[in-house]
Amino acid sequence: MWKIIRIASKVHLNKSSRRLRISFKHFKRLSSTFPSSSQQVTTNSDTDLQLIRNIGIMAHIDAGKTTTTERMLYYSGFTRHLGDVDHGNTVTDYLQEERERGITIVSAAVLFKWNKHQINLIDTPGHVDFTVEVERSLRVLDGAVTVLDASAGVEAQTLTVWKQASRYKIPKIIFLNKMDKHGANFNMCLKSIRERLHVQPIPIHLPIGKERDFVGLVDLVSLEQKIWDSSKCPDGSVYETEKLDLDNDSPSSRMVHNERDALIGILSEYDENIQTHVLNDVKNEDIPSSDIENAIRNITINNDAVIVLCGSAKRNIGVQPLLDAVVKYLPCPSDIKHNFLEYYGSNLCALTFKIVHDKHRGALTYVRVYQGVLKAGESIYNMNLNTVEKIGKQDLFQVNADEYRQVKEVGAGNIACVGGLNDVRSGDTFTDSSKTAKHASEMYAKLTGQTNTSTDEFESPVLAGLNVPPPVFFCSIEAPSVSKQRDMEQALNKIQREDPSLKVELDNESGQLVVKGMGELHLEIVKHRLLSDFGVDAYMGPLQINYREKVLHKLEHTDQLENIIGKTKNLVTMTIQLLPSEAGHMFKQAKFEGEEMPIMFRTPGHVFTKAVNRGFESALNCGPLLSSQVIDVDVVVTQIHVERGTSVSFVSAAASHTITQALEKADCCLMEPIMAMEIHVDSASAQAVMNNLIQRRGEVTEDLVNNDYRILHVLAPLANLVGYSTDLRTMTSGTASFSMELDHYAKLSEEEERKIIQKKTGLL
Ligand code: GDP
Repeated sequence: MWKIIRIASKVHLNKSSRRLRISFKHFKRLSSTFPSSSQQVTTNSDTDLQLIRNIGIMAHIDAGKTTTTERMLYYSGFTRHLGDVDHGNTVTDYLQEERERGITIVSAAVLFKWNKHQINLIDTPGHVDFTVEVERSLRVLDGAVTVLDASAGVEAQTLTVWKQASRYKIPKIIFLNKMDKHGANFNMCLKSIRERLHVQPIPIHLPIGKERDFVGLVDLVSLEQKIWDSSKCPDGSVYETEKLDLDNDSPSSRMVHNERDALIGILSEYDENIQTHVLNDVKNEDIPSSDIENAIRNITINNDAVIVLCGSAKRNIGVQPLLDAVVKYLPCPSDIKHNFLEYYGSNLCALTFKIVHDKHRGALTYVRVYQGVLKAGESIYNMNLNTVEKIGKQDLFQVNADEYRQVKEVGAGNIACVGGLNDVRSGDTFTDSSKTAKHASEMYAKLTGQTNTSTDEFESPVLAGLNVPPPVFFCSIEAPSVSKQRDMEQALNKIQREDPSLKVELDNESGQLVVKGMGELHLEIVKHRLLSDFGVDAYMGPLQINYREKVLHKLEHTDQLENIIGKTKNLVTMTIQLLPSEAGHMFKQAKFEGEEMPIMFRTPGHVFTKAVNRGFESALNCGPLLSSQVIDVDVVVTQIHVERGTSVSFVSAAASHTITQALEKADCCLMEPIMAMEIHVDSASAQAVMNNLIQRRGEVTEDLVNNDYRILHVLAPLANLVGYSTDLRTMTSGTASFSMELDHYAKLSEEEERKIIQKKTGLL
């Protein structure tokens, strides 16, 4: 067994000035938590699968996700001391930037035991810049806990992550955290779940005590009360459970009766067994807990409704029942049917969802095994890259946040970590051989009548590729010295493999390296990581908007490119048309039309066809106005002649030249990214926020008034949103929150376009 020392701590954003106190001794695991064998084998029998829970925790930043996770690890025996985000010593947020910024950036996998179950907890980031990271972790989860701040209800980022999780049909439960906080309101939260998440909440807890006097909860399933008395047990590990006496007519008894009736009423709508009890006039309190638990489990797994629990992680209240609920109600791997598995027969199917670079061990690849067994010492086949990789005999591990336990094999349903893989990227799919890969693609084609060319896993049977939104910001990046240039490029290469939403490109015109990403913070983090993890103090140029360009009118262009090297003559002549197409369209491949089209260009996949498309794509990445990508364009080749003996690379170069020449003639305009924002703000600050948005060219498309807070839906140009989060915090004393994502690209006014081009190029 070997250990990777990871630093585990966290300081919150608004407490970023506090220095960190990092203490490894806090994280010594109790040795009894795991079997001690260093050659442990994980099998995949049905019973084993039923004891696995692959779960994630999703929340809006600040809702208490990290605190809740820390309490889970503590009560399970994983850690011996309570981690505290306010003191910077938590296990799951272990990267330097996370500690400094108090946000969870990279999903950390933690494995711990609860009630004989193995819980693989994948931590998911809560910041808007890291939604790709969230998507990656969501893909490998079987269930999720959504943590809400009970004084705020459903906040903007929760909504975004909830939507993402719903796309993957991930069963969820909700934990209303911070019940001890001033303004915590159980019923307001239920209302906000119903209205904002559009799902039926099923409360299975009732809070006992309000705000500072919150001491525990009523369990509506077992009809018990659970009280945490901090004077008797400060760490909350022991709490009192007492069966409720409901045979009296006190207001609290009546309330429990009413809520239990409501629970049974809802469950009977979905579950036949409960319905039968109701029809047979079984008293609600006499319906066996096991039947209620079964009903809740089925409802949760089918995503029919969502159960709601409550507690206060910081005050150590309600976390053990939350863990019980994870085990009882969230699905095990075999509860979830993955349609794509039918293409693999009984062979290996595993998905990489995260790559981290360890200074000593190199790239470590996190893998979710869906089917088959991943074995140390055996070869695996990367279906996305068509490459074979061998897992070293000592390179297969089971993972905790900072500890890697060597194993011989990892079975279906489990999460593993593989060291020493060379070329794999986040989102790649592994199977056992090229034969299985071919078989899977053929099966897919046979059963669906389609060819598997998609990189979107919702269409693809092989889970290939990731849904990565286009980068909206970029900046130039320079090494501090010529001698550090290579180090920087290698480091960027590594970060890029970990994070597919980061793009590193060479700007052809300036010859500078540029990094493109999802937001200001995203790129800042890259700079920090270069320094802290790779020792490169890179210089980043000013943040720039990733504009796009669009061809406004149809255009035809004929071009000829020729060169003679020795006895070889390369000659390509072609006529193309550029046609404006619908919004949001990215060029993928050209159409080859015309009666005299040579046969090779009518053959999809022909080496020359591919070369032409490659050339087109590369030229369209460099528009005539600002060298930005040209979008919303179709390319039609109406005539093409390739002289015999012409090389493939020359064909590609000729295609690129033709497009570049055509774009020079074309009537083009600049398009700017427009972001869809959702802002939660208290009513008192709403007007100030709206005024500020108007100054930022924002348009409020919806204004939902909700008791004492408002939800604004806004469309605003990204160019005017730089520094928005800081401004919003100042305007609202940190009470407002927002999320944003790219909505579309819109044409700039001529005046704006002129100003931008002038600023960037000094021309015009
Ligand atoms: P995250 O951003 O969702 O991971 O939230 P954190 O766990 O970092 O918590 C954010 C802040 O809320 C920290 O200052 C915590 O101490 C505080 N906090 C977390 N849980 C509770 C709770 O149950 N009650 C109260 N009052 N504060 C909490």
